Amino acid sequence: MAVLDHISSQEAMALENKYGAQNYHPLPVVLTKGEGVFVWDVEGKKYYDFLSAYSSLNQGHCHPKIVNAMAEQAQRLTLTSRAFYNDMLGRYEKYATQYFKFDKMLPMNSGAEAVETAIKLCRKWAYEVKGIDINKAQIVVCKNNFHGRTTTIISFSNDPVARKNFGPYTDGFIKVEYDNLKQLEDVLSSEENVAGFLVEPIQGEAGVYVPSENYLKAAKALCEKYNVLFIADEVQTGIARTGRLLASCGNCSCPKKDCSGTPDVKPDVLVLGKALSGGLYPVSAVMANNDIMNVIQPGNHGSTFGGNPIAAAVAIAALEVVKDEELAENAEYLGKLFRAELNKYIKTSNIVKLVRGKGLLNAIVINDDEDSDTAWNICLKLRDNGLLAKPTHGNIIRFAPPLVMTEEQLLDCVSIITKTLKEFES
Ligand SMILES: *Cc1c(COP(=O)(O)O)cnc(C)c1O
Repeated sequence: MAVLDHISSQEAMALENKYGAQNYHPLPVVLTKGEGVFVWDVEGKKYYDFLSAYSSLNQGHCHPKIVNAMAEQAQRLTLTSRAFYNDMLGRYEKYATQYFKFDKMLPMNSGAEAVETAIKLCRKWAYEVKGIDINKAQIVVCKNNFHGRTTTIISFSNDPVARKNFGPYTDGFIKVEYDNLKQLEDVLSSEENVAGFLVEPIQGEAGVYVPSENYLKAAKALCEKYNVLFIADEVQTGIARTGRLLASCGNCSCPKKDCSGTPDVKPDVLVLGKALSGGLYPVSAVMANNDIMNVIQPGNHGSTFGGNPIAAAVAIAALEVVKDEELAENAEYLGKLFRAELNKYIKTSNIVKLVRGKGLLNAIVINDDEDSDTAWNICLKLRDNGLLAKPTHGNIIRFAPPLVMTEEQLLDCVSIITKTLKEFES
């Protein structure tokens, strides 16, 4: 069989099952093509993508502007490594830092690498600027966090599936409850060696937990009080997903198009990934101002592919699309509509307890046990009815469509979802 011969869904799944490590449990559907909010399987059936590769495809599948930027750059120069300068990286760094209003950025590839970078940056800042004793720095993290899959990152996860039998674990992390300011202040006031507070503005993988209105702002104020870096992991929540350029922007009333207002929270360290490339390429970054970023000196940190010319070209185009197409505004508008429509349904539903979220990062909670397979079965039915979504836990289904969706498409999706849920009502 030639590698590019057409294969059926059954054949494609059998290949993955036989030759691939079984580190995922995919929904049984085999995709071959994507465009905007739609994907097609190898048998030609069309679906709404309601996951967007975990919020990587905010700009939609195969956005022509980003694809062109990538193709043009791929024909000119793909990789120099950072051993040499290239003519794209500086342009990208200028564009992205002005876009997010930081002095400097450090480019990486995956989200986990960017989180690792933020941890290293925070520790080095702790020793060289804050003056914490060597190897004593602690970073406060939240329970039920998801920050990626490296050995250090899973060291401070409390998900047994992600952690078990991967020890020994990395020290230097203190866990507090998410959305609990008292616990945060207790740790910050009693522990001398805290260097940073690493937090997701909305806990995505945990099941789209939106914290209380004032939480991020108050947590940032505590960090300032105790001279601790506020590190926002916006890998999933960033780049317009929650109806703001960043979820940290909160209720800032600025016209999001040019982002001239004051965000609710300005992180000291910002971690981005996923939609930074519009889903074309692994592109991640850490942003900070000079007083923090300048602790990183030549040789301290790096990545062969980090900041490569294709990544730079792709990320500039992906960020331009977010502004040109007003994706934050669209996510805000459609998100409200989505939750309002679902809430109408939930009023009379036994199977769905609630819908929660911000912008187009939402989840429904199924009225069943955490370890039931109801959410999975609902996702299978959604697939049959032309919409792809995935449970985050046994009883939570995340809904995160591309932000380029129209109102008509969104309402079509709402009717697919409610029609499907009806089949599960008892
Ligand atoms: C997806 C995700 C990561 C990890 O990104 P990868 O590209 O999968 O390494 C980190 N933090 C958050 C909040 C994420 O959602």
